[in-house]
Amino acid sequence: MRTPIMAGNWKMNCDNEEAAALAKGVVDAVGQVADCQVVLCPPATALTTVAECIKGSKIQLGAQNMFWEEKGAFTGELSAKMLLSCGCSFVIIGHSERRGRFGAVAEDFTEELRRVFGDTDASVNRKLKAALAAGLTPIVCVGELISERQAGMTDAIVSDQVRAALDGVEADALPDIVIAYEPVWAIGTGEVCDAQEANRVCGLIRKVVGDIGGASRAEAMRVLYGGSVKPDNIDELIAQPEIDGGLVGGASLKADSFAALVNAAAK
Ligand code: PEP
Repeated sequence: MRTPIMAGNWKMNCDNEEAAALAKGVVDAVGQVADCQVVLCPPATALTTVAECIKGSKIQLGAQNMFWEEKGAFTGELSAKMLLSCGCSFVIIGHSERRGRFGAVAEDFTEELRRVFGDTDASVNRKLKAALAAGLTPIVCVGELISERQAGMTDAIVSDQVRAALDGVEADALPDIVIAYEPVWAIGTGEVCDAQEANRVCGLIRKVVGDIGGASRAEAMRVLYGGSVKPDNIDELIAQPEIDGGLVGGASLKADSFAALVNAAAK
């Protein structure tokens, strides 16, 4: 039985005062919940604030990105060691926004802007290995654009992203990795992926992982769904056998809606 995870990706929201209020709200609502790992991923500027607020609760802290080097001349970047020192135990890697694969505004995005965000399959792989080596649990995001889905490329895109992310990773480390299936067209759009289809793609991800490292390791790995998860669609999503929880953006920005998702996953 895999323990579900509900991870809140606050993205570029919440100054320190707002982050403290939101974190306290989540702690009050679900701070001692059993049977679900709860992870808050505030912006880097609020990591230590949130770490303070969740002390004494079961809630864990995650970062939204990291760099693979330990230290050095990498202006603006944060290492795994720095995240650990803020109290993080999780880190999101390769979110579609970091890969420059924005859903709703994809058409408007120029190559130059894509480079600003810049993650590639190769950088995701390096970040994943550095996170594992440091003892952080990576939540690796994969998912297709709407144009790729319409062209019938979903399975190929997702499988390729999973294989590239895991390239060269020790098979024994696979159960320590979390993969989030996040169809780009469903992120922040209110358009949730059909639960059976999300389940199918999460099952495909587990099959790809099984081909790499064996079925028993793949069975132990948590595969999340992300993309417009809300209190009114969580029950159907979480009931799917291949979906082990959610990576949540918008609905994680209000303590009561995020708590409803946590409670649904913990049932
Ligand atoms: C996300 O940020 O990973 C996400 C899935 O966002 P939202 O829940 O708002 O679609």
